[in-house]
Amino acid sequence: MLLDWWQANGRHTIPWKRNSRGARPCHGEPLDPYPIWVAEVMLQQTQLQVVLPYWQRWMEAFSSVEALATAKEHDVLLLWQGLGYYSRARRLHQGASLLQDRAPDWPQDLDGWLELPGIGRSTAGSILSSAFDLPLPILDGNVKRVLARLVACPTPPNRTLAWFWQLSELVLDPQRPRDFNQALMDLGATVCTPRNPSCHACPWTLHCAAYASGDPAAYPMKDAPRELPFQVIGVGVVLDDAGQVLIDQRLNEGLLGGLWEFPGGKQEPGEAIEVTVARELTEELAITVEVGEELITLEHAYSHKKLRFVVHLCRWLTGEPQPLACQQVKWVEPAELSNYPFPAANARIIAALLERLGVAEVA
Ligand code: SF4
Repeated sequence: MLLDWWQANGRHTIPWKRNSRGARPCHGEPLDPYPIWVAEVMLQQTQLQVVLPYWQRWMEAFSSVEALATAKEHDVLLLWQGLGYYSRARRLHQGASLLQDRAPDWPQDLDGWLELPGIGRSTAGSILSSAFDLPLPILDGNVKRVLARLVACPTPPNRTLAWFWQLSELVLDPQRPRDFNQALMDLGATVCTPRNPSCHACPWTLHCAAYASGDPAAYPMKDAPRELPFQVIGVGVVLDDAGQVLIDQRLNEGLLGGLWEFPGGKQEPGEAIEVTVARELTEELAITVEVGEELITLEHAYSHKKLRFVVHLCRWLTGEPQPLACQQVKWVEPAELSNYPFPAANARIIAALLERLGVAEVA
């Protein structure tokens, strides 16, 4: 039933799901795991339409696991820029080195994939069923939603994950696991959508408890949303007399590890933002600056906190910049900033800076 629906309505043009001739693979036909692995990691926190152009560029730049393993981390992060959750890029890079050591054999079981950084059970199952047509269940966000609705689960899925894994395994078609898992994901992405599921177009209407309840969108149940902590960050765009701008590279840990940024830090209670900027630059880079006018203020929400960046232009006064809380610091020409991977929030700071400098040059 689901597979009949998928035959007619599935997303069949996904490039990493096609064989080397560009056709849909036959039952049991192996596919190259490398493009699938890259795509699955990109899809972990990002939607298909956003991933597609990134995946295309990635495959052009790093066409094989060997090419990725020998690439510079700087280039890997630069290509990932804008996709967010940058640790995924670093883990792909690390994973490529591990896989290259084991070449030419790709892992053919869950344990082999779970040894790679950033690979959980659902990603591993999806790679193995996509590449080798192995009967392994998956449980990504789309699948959790569809299954929770199918049974009208009275609790949020993450509270009963083991049970959801069993359910995903139970519904899986062992004869066509690759197609079935893809069909389940396609159903969740295109029909059983988060807000307004198109139940009239669903092949499972007759079996769906959420549909029978009359309010399918009420499922999956959710935990009460928690208030995200809010912080104000003072940021300094420091220019020297030659017009170069100071940037620093974050330590490798954390959400944005390894990326470049403009220096700054948290505003203390009762502190004027100009004082925050000057203090942070002294504490983190051992320099003194003259804090000038505001360049831009912007807000950015991460999954665990909301930040307001208040960005000021600064003039470097004294002190050779030291990487006291980062990997390295660099003076660069403003026009060269695009050669460095920055977090998404910084793209607007760069655009504002270039615009400001452009106005200054004209004047
Ligand atoms: S009937 Fe509606 S709620 Fe149930 S699985 Fe299909 S689309 Fe989702």
